[in-house]
Amino acid sequence: MNLLWEECKQELAKSIDSHNFVSYIQPTTALDMQDGELSILVPSAFFADWIEKNYMKAIREVLVAKAGPEVRVKFVVDPQKPKVEVRAPAPVARHKKKALPPQFKPQYSFDSFVVGKSNEFAYSSALTCAKNPGSKYNPLYLYGGVGLGKTHLVQSIGKYILEQNPDARVLYISSDQWVNQLISKIQKGQMDEFRNTFRNLDVLLVDDIQFIAGKERTQEEFFHTFNELFHAEKQIVISSDQFPKDIKKLEDRLKSRFASGLIADIQAADLETKIAIINQKSSANGYTIPQDVAQFLAETIKSNIRELEGCMARVVAVASLTGRPIDLTLAKETLEGVYSEEKKHIDTPRIQKAVMEYYSLRPNDLKSKNRSRNLVIPRQLAMYLCREITDDSLPQIGKAFGGRDHSTVLHSHQKVKKDLESNTKLYKDLTAIKRMLEL
Ligand code: ADP
Ligand code: MG
Repeated sequence: MNLLWEECKQELAKSIDSHNFVSYIQPTTALDMQDGELSILVPSAFFADWIEKNYMKAIREVLVAKAGPEVRVKFVVDPQKPKVEVRAPAPVARHKKKALPPQFKPQYSFDSFVVGKSNEFAYSSALTCAKNPGSKYNPLYLYGGVGLGKTHLVQSIGKYILEQNPDARVLYISSDQWVNQLISKIQKGQMDEFRNTFRNLDVLLVDDIQFIAGKERTQEEFFHTFNELFHAEKQIVISSDQFPKDIKKLEDRLKSRFASGLIADIQAADLETKIAIINQKSSANGYTIPQDVAQFLAETIKSNIRELEGCMARVVAVASLTGRPIDLTLAKETLEGVYSEEKKHIDTPRIQKAVMEYYSLRPNDLKSKNRSRNLVIPRQLAMYLCREITDDSLPQIGKAFGGRDHSTVLHSHQKVKKDLESNTKLYKDLTAIKRMLEL
């Protein structure tokens, strides 16, 4: 029966978006088949709900084709077996609470993380991972745009594990710190020490892994560390701004290792979640933000939560410095300057550069007259973005794209706008480029 389910999974892999397949379907296994009912083991109740909501139709179709119309499906949640034993012999009271290692920020915890649709999967994966280090999702790979809470979640995992087991050897490091330490140890001829540090851990949390891309020696070293920890069933958690496959200049063997556990993405938060975050942060800091102000901030700041916090702090600071109440007028005044500044530095050349990098184009491709499809789409998307983001006029944009007519810009804008409604590839491209522009 497991074979039946494995066959079904292979079929499902063809129809379900690969990111989603790896995240939701891949980790499941079949338990048994009784009275025409196939029991499928899922890692948590969240998975069961999620799969039912999103993939039940596809699963039924595939199953019916393979096993006939009578077959039914049931999800069984894997009973959790916490792997980190709380080393109990010494009474807890004698066990003095250890200070959190300095790399951890005390305010980053699961409790202070506001869960909404955009991040619930990442959150629940991280929590399950923290409860079952080394045994459940290994590696856990979290990815998402700037300021969406990756570091917050990665640190929450480490902190949770340390709370359960203060003796666990947990290390949090960002990949650029990893690179710097490696270089310095190579220079001092202390590679053994470097290896000992990283290969004797229970939990390795590597934030922003994209920074090791293009660095051969670092990738080599990381690969061996990864393997050693992985085979010893030690937990590895990785965060990145991109899906493994999409990180340029990252070795294929690392890409496939990173994708071999659970991948969870964090999307930009919706309005309600942003407002909930504002409320959570303001009450944690001991002040109140009126709801109309919270709504205004959440609408103004598109996705980056760090920026949302920054704006909130700015509004509160202005109120306190001037003795005025925190209200909508004050919030609007305070943010006005910030937002016109923001807009200014995303200009047409910057958009062109991002589009060029994203599609790996050559410098003149966006301006050339070449009408091949793999240039036309990026060019139209770039023009669309210029019209949406900058204050440039249609003729100005046309000029920046090799002297095209303003009507071409207009047409491109309308076409992309319409295509975005149905073309998911285009939509993904746009989201990725906006992310590169930190929008
Ligand atoms: P990233 O690592 O993805 O760039 P961070 O984890 O540094 O983002 O998050 C940026 C800021 O936003 C942090 O202060 C973090 O606490 C806050 N934040 C992001 N998402 C949430 C959330 N869902 N709930 C509470 N705070 C959040
Ligand atoms: Mg971060």
